[in-house]
Amino acid sequence: MEQNEFDVVVVGSGAGALLAAIRAADQGLKPLVVEKTALLGGTSAISGGGIWIPDNHDMPKAGLRDSIEAAFHYVRTCARGLSSDDRILAYVETARQMARYLAEIGVPYRCVPSYADYYPTLDGAMPGGRTMDPMDFNAAKLGVQDLELLRPTSPGQLVLGRMHINAFEARTMLARERKAKFVLLWMMARYYLDYPWRNKTKRDRRLTGGQALLGGLFTALRKRGITLWLESPLQSLTEKDGRVTGVVVQRGGQDVAVTARRAVVLAAGGFERNQQMREQYLPKPTDQGWTATPPEANTGDAIRAGAALGGALRLMEHTWGAPTIFVPKEEKNRAMFVERSMPGCMVVNGRGERFLNESGPYPEFQQAMFANNDKTGCAIPAWIVFDATFRANYPIGPIMPAMAVPDSRLRKSWLGTVYWKGETLEELAQQIGVDPQGLAASAKRMTEFAKTGKDLDFGRGDNVFDRYYGDVNVKPNPNLAPIEKGPFYAMKLNPGDIGTKGGLLTDRDARVLREDGEAIEGLYCVGNNSASVMGPSYPGAGSTLGPAMTFAFRAIAHITGKP
Ligand code: FAD
Repeated sequence: MEQNEFDVVVVGSGAGALLAAIRAADQGLKPLVVEKTALLGGTSAISGGGIWIPDNHDMPKAGLRDSIEAAFHYVRTCARGLSSDDRILAYVETARQMARYLAEIGVPYRCVPSYADYYPTLDGAMPGGRTMDPMDFNAAKLGVQDLELLRPTSPGQLVLGRMHINAFEARTMLARERKAKFVLLWMMARYYLDYPWRNKTKRDRRLTGGQALLGGLFTALRKRGITLWLESPLQSLTEKDGRVTGVVVQRGGQDVAVTARRAVVLAAGGFERNQQMREQYLPKPTDQGWTATPPEANTGDAIRAGAALGGALRLMEHTWGAPTIFVPKEEKNRAMFVERSMPGCMVVNGRGERFLNESGPYPEFQQAMFANNDKTGCAIPAWIVFDATFRANYPIGPIMPAMAVPDSRLRKSWLGTVYWKGETLEELAQQIGVDPQGLAASAKRMTEFAKTGKDLDFGRGDNVFDRYYGDVNVKPNPNLAPIEKGPFYAMKLNPGDIGTKGGLLTDRDARVLREDGEAIEGLYCVGNNSASVMGPSYPGAGSTLGPAMTFAFRAIAHITGKP
């Protein structure tokens, strides 16, 4: 067996993993990054790249005042006793320090002033500012060769299948603000006129979201000369006298033992791509095909490796839930984060009944699907139903607004796979196997709610979070419009996820704990590999990447003894 020695071995190459390796190098250690697939970045690379950072350095510029106390109180309430106060405090205290460090290493972020926390009515919530979005990153800094190693973003995150779009632009376009057309024109001109770059690669030079984050981290990794092994999956951990001493990885078809002189940091994601583990732990029904994360990547390998050494597991029944849709020829389901919030649509079960606030946070959406399915047996799949006015104005899944791409120009194969269509609600109901009377009654009720601006059943549009993705031109409620103009359309929603959130139990410094609360020496764990600091909840956009990188930052501080 080939022998190798490093100070720190980092398993995985998502945001938490790379941050750990870069910070370790900056603290004088020699790190190794081992990644299972041929591409770097994991789900982090295809994500929105948002991070949830309470009391961050950019909030005062936006006139927002926050405090660690308020954030602690808020997360603690959200976590419902399923995460320790000690860890929550460690997170809210260190996150802003980590965000500053990101800027220092060339990955700057800015706060999104009007993106509210997901539960804006809870004590300690903010109406905006805690979610930070990465600044656009010029891929030329990374170089075309390495760009090809960065996992590309999903088609759903690209405009016209090519151009990256950042969170500010996405919101402008979706909410149909006045400047929306100019933003689109600027984006297209910038991409198509960039001949020198397009001669080298089709991939956009301007990286946004998760691509900007991972592109920036990858550049920082290369600048420090950190060793990266792709296609080198972790097989097991090695230990001596109760202390983790290294890993065995598969490399070029052989097992390679690697010594970690100081520590191993597990950052190999959750288990959402492991059907057997899903069936063992998650609510039923469950299907690995419903997740929006890269195929075959996160199969819980490092969760099992940590557990085999006595690491305790927590939150294994929880996911970062989100409704997802199937699109033929795409390698994974698409998450439906925002379109369902726009006015003129509703979500129904097989009885044609609404059962949730369509504009609410996506984890609650997925949980409501399971709860209603338990009750009625017909909410999985659920159906998002919209009328011709919605279809004309808003994109949904892979379907662009009809005013840009009419039905006649949609792919023929999508009819009956991506969307269903009926001239009347009754015709649509028959096609999708939903009770026609229930569907008609729900549409009628929604049309009445749209007139008064009050959703008497689920309070859609009643709070600042719901309204963030609404149409600013629609009054009195930007999330509510009549559903009355044919033809009518439907799309099938799965109770999917953007990753699992259960894993190895860790302490405030990301050390893996045994059931008796003792730390396993030399073993650290971050990201979805670990049980989330947020407990079962999702306090705001960026609640997965923020903690992944913050606990990576804390892990290295603990390993080196330098805060
Ligand atoms: P990953 O980023 O998935 O990295 C894990 C890596 O480990 C993978 O590369 C995998 O191949 C590798 N690996 C697995 N097994 C092994 C092994 N045996 N050996 C070596 N390597 C292994 N979250 C946010 O906070 N903000 C957002 O804006 C956001 N937007 C999202 C948008 C979308 C469309 C999706 C799908 C998710 C989004 N998320 C967002 C969720 C977020 O991306 C994930 O929760 C996060 O990336 C998980 O990070 P991770 O490091 O734990 O795992």
